[in-house]
Amino acid sequence: MSTAALPPSPPLLPEERPGGQAQDLSLSFANPAAARILGAASPEELLRTGSGGVFERYDVLDAGGHPLSLGQLPGRQVITHGSAPERVLRFRDKRTGQEHWSRASAAPVRDARGQVVYAINVFRDVTEVMRTQERLSLLAEAGELLSASLDLEGTLTATARLLVPRLADWCAVHLAGDSTPSRQVASIHMDPAKVELAQRLAELYPKDPEATSGIHHVMRTGQPELTSDITDAMLVAAARSEEHLCILRELGLRSLMVVPLNARGRTLGTLTVATAESLRRLGPEELKLVEELARRAALAVDNARLYTEARRAQARQAVALEAGRMGAWEWDIQAQRVLWSPELERIHGIPEGSFGGGFEDYQSDMHPEDRERVLTSIQRVVAEQQPEHHVQYRIVLPDGRVRHVEAHGRLTLDEQGRPSRLTGVCTDITERLALEEDARRLVREQAARAEAERARQHTAGLLASLEKAQAELACRAQELTRSNADLEQFAYVASHDLQEPLRMVASYVQLLSRRYKGKLDADADAFIRYAVDGATRMQALINDLLAYSRVGTRGKELVPVPLERSVERALSHLRLALQEAGAEMKVEPLPWVKGDETQLAQLLQNLVGNAVKFLGERPPRIRVSAAREGDTVTVPVEDNGIGIEPQYYERIFAIFQRLHGKEEYPGTGIGLSICKKIVERHGGRIWVESTPGQGSTFRFTLGAAEAPRA
Ligand code: ADP
Repeated sequence: MSTAALPPSPPLLPEERPGGQAQDLSLSFANPAAARILGAASPEELLRTGSGGVFERYDVLDAGGHPLSLGQLPGRQVITHGSAPERVLRFRDKRTGQEHWSRASAAPVRDARGQVVYAINVFRDVTEVMRTQERLSLLAEAGELLSASLDLEGTLTATARLLVPRLADWCAVHLAGDSTPSRQVASIHMDPAKVELAQRLAELYPKDPEATSGIHHVMRTGQPELTSDITDAMLVAAARSEEHLCILRELGLRSLMVVPLNARGRTLGTLTVATAESLRRLGPEELKLVEELARRAALAVDNARLYTEARRAQARQAVALEAGRMGAWEWDIQAQRVLWSPELERIHGIPEGSFGGGFEDYQSDMHPEDRERVLTSIQRVVAEQQPEHHVQYRIVLPDGRVRHVEAHGRLTLDEQGRPSRLTGVCTDITERLALEEDARRLVREQAARAEAERARQHTAGLLASLEKAQAELACRAQELTRSNADLEQFAYVASHDLQEPLRMVASYVQLLSRRYKGKLDADADAFIRYAVDGATRMQALINDLLAYSRVGTRGKELVPVPLERSVERALSHLRLALQEAGAEMKVEPLPWVKGDETQLAQLLQNLVGNAVKFLGERPPRIRVSAAREGDTVTVPVEDNGIGIEPQYYERIFAIFQRLHGKEEYPGTGIGLSICKKIVERHGGRIWVESTPGQGSTFRFTLGAAEAPRA
């Protein structure tokens, strides 16, 4: 997020300038963000301690966790080479082991001769991004490792290696043994000496299988354990002797977690992860990551177990099968004759005693795609006098079936040392291959099933959070409805109760106006006029507010009504205004709709009323029509008035929103919000389209109803 610039002031690194003097680089400017990233309390402190101070405070590592020297930093590279690629730096606090990441880049500033005089360094804190990325790539790498291999111990060791040094300094994997409670299959440590130390510890002080914490406990309970801060007091409590304590202290563990390898409802082993010399602290975040990794590793372990079981079963079966499907053969090389046992004839699907005995007969049922390979192999055995012959190929039986066979032979030489015969057995391995394929498929299917289960759980999780969100939404909606109702009630009561005193004010100022107009001075006349105006406006406002609040509270049930009747009612109230404006009013045939007739009349009165009020230069032309589509009736009210700019299309439907002063066009800004409320109460929507200067069309929708049959 933060950027910082800290140019080392001239002079340059000496090596860059032939014959120059060796001089130190110094920082000449740093902003507070730079100070923060580089661990100084203030820019001034950073300038004082310089890059040396940074290296005293931190181990500076590259993205892969390997130490970097000062000269490898972009700033120095720019001064040495004139440019440097951006790189990710990892700062590990030497005291606390805490890490943060920063993306660092540097740009040169050159003097008139093109010599680099400054390097401007920009640091950006990317700790969060890098942590997330590291985690994802760790899981991805582990996923690849674990799904690809059935070599159990190799895979687990590789998995442990993934964690060191990226996440921890030490990682060990234990598997539940058949007889012993556990067996260590992998142990990876940053410092190999520590592996030995840990081994010695395990030998001298074997873990108590009944202990209430540690590997055996996790193995028994299937629950992970995390100790973020290992204190010396804990070591003292755990030690069984002085020597034990000594070794424990020497191991120098800082944080430790033991995570179960759980798969298909069983705990198959444990994954132990610890930090020591890096001083890093393992917390709940790391625990979550390692648990995910352990879950994947456990599935791999379980798959490997299933595979081994399948292999064993298949091997047992194969032995039984092969006993019955093995034939003997002999090839007299010099005489070019081949002998087959009756079993071999059976394997080749020909009647006993029918094999011709020529070398061509032997080749005749070989699969064309395999023939050349088999013959080459036999020729090589003879030519190179290889003692053993081994080949696998397909044969095509007289009935067209393809079988797989495997031949083993041994070469015999004559007295002159020339190859004389090749003798051996041939086995039909078709079933065995099928079984092997089955076993492989089984493992694949198991893995796919596990993946599907994981996806299901993930989806279930998503669904659960969706439901929660929906419930929250429903709750909010309810609250909103309640507070709306409260508000409506308030508006109703307020406007209703205001009516009475206002009526009094209005009638008295009107009385004043009638009685004293022209009898007092000109100022008094004006004041009285203002008072009458104000009172009248206020009455209009209160009436409108009352109408607004009544839409929700005084609405009648929605029943089929002829829309035409509502229009008539609306127009009867507007007759005078329409006449005065010289309006041309056109009402097309209108359908029946589901509605509250009084409210629909009010809706149309407001819309047509506005159409007359906001008239342009021309005499107003107003048209009300309707179109039915399915269950919906859309009603446009068109006028040729002043129109509305598109940016106000939404706003005008809000209460008290007006686009003009009351001198220009009278009004309270409530009319359209009443319209909106009525339409929404009817389950429809209302909107406007307009060409400013040409006219507007307000459209609203209602539910269609059938006209009763006469
Ligand atoms: P009022 O008419 O009391 O000002 P409304 O809520 O009815 O309040 O309308 C809000 C605003 O929308 C009006 O002030 C006006 O600017 C604009 N408006 C409404 N109807 C029309 C129309 N037919 N033509 C042009 N402008 C309109």
